Amino acid sequence: MARLFFALYPDAAARASLAAVLPTDGARGRVIPADNLHVTLAFLGDVDATAADALRALQDAVPVPPFELCFERLVFWERARARVLVPEAVPPEAECLQAGIRRLLTGQGLSFDRRPWNPHVTLERRAAPAPTRPVTPIRIRFDDYVLMASETRPEGAVYRPLARWRLPPGDAV
Ligand code: ATP
Ligand code: MG
Repeated sequence: MARLFFALYPDAAARASLAAVLPTDGARGRVIPADNLHVTLAFLGDVDATAADALRALQDAVPVPPFELCFERLVFWERARARVLVPEAVPPEAECLQAGIRRLLTGQGLSFDRRPWNPHVTLERRAAPAPTRPVTPIRIRFDDYVLMASETRPEGAVYRPLARWRLPPGDAV
């Protein structure tokens, strides 16, 4: 069994930019390591090895052109007790990708978290309430997405990309 989720996984430079938001902000909770910063597209939870192999072997990317997300606000989510970065606007390509992955999972007969998608990057858990504030916008281009395995270790969650799909370029205009 493996704990799996699909994610947008920024490159190291973009992760560093995201991580840099908090140190100046007096975080008191559990700060997420830069290597773990991501946007969850679909959360499957525990999946057996056969299904995991089938997912890794999927040939076709969801046919959506690359897109950008611009993270502009740091928000405290009360129920999750987390501080998250959210984009001001979500481009239709991102919505299509997320919906396409859900369709693909349904097609594979796999269950996943079906709550409405609310794209975000979690920076801090067990966070103290803090007012929402704008941050210097962090614009990240995504031209692929990953299937990620999450392992629980004493030092916290460790993520391992199992497969990566490139987003096909759109038609030139
Ligand atoms: P930890 O659980 O150690 O705090 P984590 O939450 O980063 O670390 P996972 O629990 O494996 O690691 O979660 C991976 C991703 O899936 C995270 O973005 C998390 O918010 C999301 N996630 C976890 N559980 C669920 C769930 N039940 N429904 C939807 N998304 C989930
Ligand atoms: Mg968790």
